[in-house]
Amino acid sequence: MSIDIPETNFPRVVIVGGGFGGIQLAKNLKNKEVQVLMIDKHNYHTFQPLLYQVATGGLEPDSIAFPLRKVFKHQKNFVFRVANVEKVHPTEKYLETSIGEIPYDYLVIATGSTTNFFGNTEIESNSMPMKSIPEALNLRSLILQSFEEALLRDSINEQEALMNFVIVGGGPTGVETAGALAELKSHVLPNDYPDLDLRRMQINLVESAPRLLSSMSPQASKQAESFLKEMGVNVRTNDLVVSYNGTTVELKSGRKLETTNLIWSAGVKGSVIEGINPEVLVRGNRIKTDSYNRVSGYENIFAIGDVAAMITEETPNGHPGVAQVAIQQGKLLSKNIINLINNRELKAFSYLDLGSMATVGRNKAVVDLPFIRFQGIFAWFVWMFLHLLFLVGFRNKLVVLVNWIWNYFSYDRGTRLIIRPYRKNKDVMDEERNLVHAKL
Ligand SMILES: Cc1cc2nc3c(=O)[nH]c(=O)nc-3n(C[C@H](O)[C@H](O)[C@H](O)COP(=O)(O)OP(=O)(O)OC[C@H]3O[C@@H](n4cnc5c(N)ncnc54)[C@H](O)[C@@H]3O)c2cc1C
Repeated sequence: MSIDIPETNFPRVVIVGGGFGGIQLAKNLKNKEVQVLMIDKHNYHTFQPLLYQVATGGLEPDSIAFPLRKVFKHQKNFVFRVANVEKVHPTEKYLETSIGEIPYDYLVIATGSTTNFFGNTEIESNSMPMKSIPEALNLRSLILQSFEEALLRDSINEQEALMNFVIVGGGPTGVETAGALAELKSHVLPNDYPDLDLRRMQINLVESAPRLLSSMSPQASKQAESFLKEMGVNVRTNDLVVSYNGTTVELKSGRKLETTNLIWSAGVKGSVIEGINPEVLVRGNRIKTDSYNRVSGYENIFAIGDVAAMITEETPNGHPGVAQVAIQQGKLLSKNIINLINNRELKAFSYLDLGSMATVGRNKAVVDLPFIRFQGIFAWFVWMFLHLLFLVGFRNKLVVLVNWIWNYFSYDRGTRLIIRPYRKNKDVMDEERNLVHAKL
């Protein structure tokens, strides 16, 4: 059954996903002769680059989330619905969603990506991913609960397992999380838990490649590793987690680590909607598109951002899964959709790489810009400035800035709250997820 959507004489562009790509596209379609209908399973946009700060008690979740309706409150041609998109019917041109059927003239899939456990169900059910706000809050609760639990154990081995953190994946997320945990260990936890011997707290960062931050320059990798080591993190490159049963991590090198806290940031895969021809899915479960972001084999279906793999001679593996790709593709696609409607020529996408960066801790960051590379305190200020710039919403920018200034001078992290205790059981999480859906 079709849902109630305002009538329109203009073509309807349905955008699935209010992430970086979806928002940019919808904004650029303002005042154009189309109806923009955005669907997202959440009513808010998540600023994923700062999820790790929520997980480690540095920021509250509402400072990195922004209501999607508020982003577009002055855009007359914009309609929003909260729904989970379940299937696309390309021939009949409609979407099957949790709230009913939604017809489209043009469909843009901007659904981003989800955690990739590479088929290892044991790791999936025992580890902590960090791809959404609920997951970051689960991790925050688990970290704090582990220390509360450690206080109650007499056995040194059990205490150590509770205070041992293993982070898998040495990309920006893994590096930033390891650095934030090391700062908690040095500045915050000793005050909160004077009864625990925090010298026994371990932070291990495991990376299968020979170096951390492999998408950045060797100089940045080397400096990030040296910052982390200085902060007491055990960096284990050239190694791989092969199994984790909830208490023991086995590495390919044969080493075993006892821990109740495994954080998985080792990979993502595209969040593809059912109904898209499986033959157009490429490595990383991404949807193959042409250089106009048009999904191979379809006239009026497009994919942008993390879920898209624009395979061309210059980009045989598609573009990197970063916010700038999604933003730039969203911007150009808004023009191309209008060109298509008016039978004008389409413009091919060309990615302008603005550089990449990662922060390790206070005064410690690494920045690779196209024309210059630098590390240390200046890099840390640049990192903060750019994150504030791209954060959605003036209130959020202000709250985050005030928090950072407070944390810097007080050496504190204010949000060490177990609001929603984490129950370490995949079935419980699935049950909770289903309840949310049932309510919708
Ligand atoms: C922890 C972390 C740190 C990161 N740090 C950085 C960084 O420092 N710099 C950087 O450039 N990039 C970073 N990234 C990557 C960056 O966040 C992504 O590249 C970017 O978000 C991709 O934008 P997108 O629009 O493709 O998808 P997203 O921003 O992921 O948005 C997808 C949207 O689609 C919605 N959705 C998905 N499936 C459905 C469905 N079936 N029905 C309805 N709605 C759906 C989701 O709710 C979401 O709102 C980081 C990612 C993570 C997870």
